[in-house]
Amino acid sequence: MNTPYNHTQDTPRKRIAILGSTGSIGTQALEVIALHEEFFEVEVLTANRNADLLIEQAVRFKPNAVVIADRNQTAKVKAALEPLHIKVYSGDSSVASIVEMETIDLVLTALVGYSGLLPTIRAIESGKTIALANKETLVVAGDLVTRLAREKGVNIFPIDSEHSAIFQCITGEFHNRIEKVILTASGGPFRGKTREELANVTCAEALKHPNWNMGSKVTIDSATLMNKGLEAIEAKWLFGLEPSQVEVVVHPQSIIHSMVQFEDGSIKAQLSLPDMRLPIQFALAYPVRLKADFPRFDVSRYPSLTFEQPDTKTFRNLALAFEALNRGGNMPCVLNAANEVAVRCFLEQKIGFLRMPEVVEQCLTKMDYIKNPRFEDYMETDRKTRIKALELIN
Ligand code: MG
Repeated sequence: MNTPYNHTQDTPRKRIAILGSTGSIGTQALEVIALHEEFFEVEVLTANRNADLLIEQAVRFKPNAVVIADRNQTAKVKAALEPLHIKVYSGDSSVASIVEMETIDLVLTALVGYSGLLPTIRAIESGKTIALANKETLVVAGDLVTRLAREKGVNIFPIDSEHSAIFQCITGEFHNRIEKVILTASGGPFRGKTREELANVTCAEALKHPNWNMGSKVTIDSATLMNKGLEAIEAKWLFGLEPSQVEVVVHPQSIIHSMVQFEDGSIKAQLSLPDMRLPIQFALAYPVRLKADFPRFDVSRYPSLTFEQPDTKTFRNLALAFEALNRGGNMPCVLNAANEVAVRCFLEQKIGFLRMPEVVEQCLTKMDYIKNPRFEDYMETDRKTRIKALELIN
């Protein structure tokens, strides 16, 4: 029998820094913290350019410090928060350095894309526990980041719902080997469509995800299945797997968030309604499950949970991500940079839906392969791939 977690008034609260507090994950993390203020306190908030929401959040949660990355907004944020004795910093370099603050216990990285890499590395170097919502960090430099975390004895708790599901399945099983993980994918808004039908889909259609309410980058990645490809790479690094141990299955209901198959053939799954607050709370509170009244999954209302094979001929990105995963080295970094450029250009309506995987594929073919990249090699690969991708598009 395990003893229930005993929280007393003397138990110190976990002091949390949220990088990217005004985005989809950041705002939901603050909702979770608001439900459990006896467990958590907000130490730092950072935002890219949404000064108004950052100010509102800081007034409500009284952090020690905030960072606004966009320097044009510094004066406005200072005017609003300095009278409340909240320190205000600005610029991207401050986002990366603020994580070293001694009073932070846990850093939740909810930045979008490659921008999450450097602050995450700095946080690990300073020994902070990481709650990782920025999958690109592990896609780009998983080898370097996980090695550093091992050296520093730092835990990286996943927030991505699939990886949270796997983490929840293996909690209590850390001594047992994983045979394989089965990542579930909703299939996105275009599941079942042909290439001909995809040629003319609009940005607005791609942004309508059937089950999840998320930021625009990850929503487009879900529509192209790149998101699942990035998650396969993320899973390899988080759980120390070989590429052949990562499988993807389409599960349109998004109730099973992923599964783990152990060496005796038993499969464990984690189920719930799609609600990001649950994986966020699990990562923040680990190893405790805090009571919450998030809407429950009612088994009797879901007569069928279904599974099908992903269509990688139509949704090329998933196959390309596995190609990058198998080749290793700097190829996942190339994949990510090319994809970030392609998604941005699609959102700006400069290219069509089917052009995105073409750009990624061409970059994977054209960029130089580096087998054992150092940090500088990742930076160079990222920079050069972005230039190449833009050349291909313009
Ligand atoms: Mg996910």
